[in-house]
Amino acid sequence: MRILLIAIFLVLGIVYSNRIVAQQIHIDCDTAHFHYSDYIDSMAFYEKRMGEKKHLNTSDERLTLAFYVALSHYPELHDKRISLRLKSLVSTMQAQPSPNFIVKRKSKRSYRIFVNDNPELTGINYQDLSFNALVGWIGHEFAHLIDYSSMNNRELLGFIAAYVFDKREMRKTERQADKETIKRGLGIQLLDGVAFFEKNKKVSKRYRKRKKKNYLSEEEIIAVIKRNCD
Ligand SMILES: [Zn+2]
Repeated sequence: MRILLIAIFLVLGIVYSNRIVAQQIHIDCDTAHFHYSDYIDSMAFYEKRMGEKKHLNTSDERLTLAFYVALSHYPELHDKRISLRLKSLVSTMQAQPSPNFIVKRKSKRSYRIFVNDNPELTGINYQDLSFNALVGWIGHEFAHLIDYSSMNNRELLGFIAAYVFDKREMRKTERQADKETIKRGLGIQLLDGVAFFEKNKKVSKRYRKRKKKNYLSEEEIIAVIKRNCD
């Protein structure tokens, strides 16, 4: 599908234009850790409040709850159509617009979050992440959705092509998503996830290299939190 999108992009000759950067918001400096047992009773409440257009194709309750706890930090996404599905990936998670976005109005667009269920490919089993880290990781994916939902179809198409072809665009996008996650009050959660990644000896060389190149390091996350919250 990605190839098809690129082909469409090339045929139309659309020039990648300046995309609208997600609106700046004040940073939330809460440093509490999330524990699964503290939130499990809130599942029904979360599903009622945010679940109307969400399709979670998993029986993993911990993952589902982490999805909603993270989502509660992104009010703009509460009325968006978002699905979550387990899939074999070369990263731990991935966020993307549904490929049919090109034939849909922006308001009807839906988004997908994939979670890797094949640890062989990356060395990371998402089930080994603490609940807190899982919330941070999903929060990073929601930050991407905030970005995508600010773009019209033409901008989104241009963005996808730039992300695929231009290594700098990937780095810019991933670091921006990390910063947005911190701003949303999930800095400690993001840090927990990155710390797990760094400590994990099973992570593939390739994945480790890509992470280092494109994402905020533990030190950088701490620096952003400190700069904003001291
Ligand atoms: Zn990302």
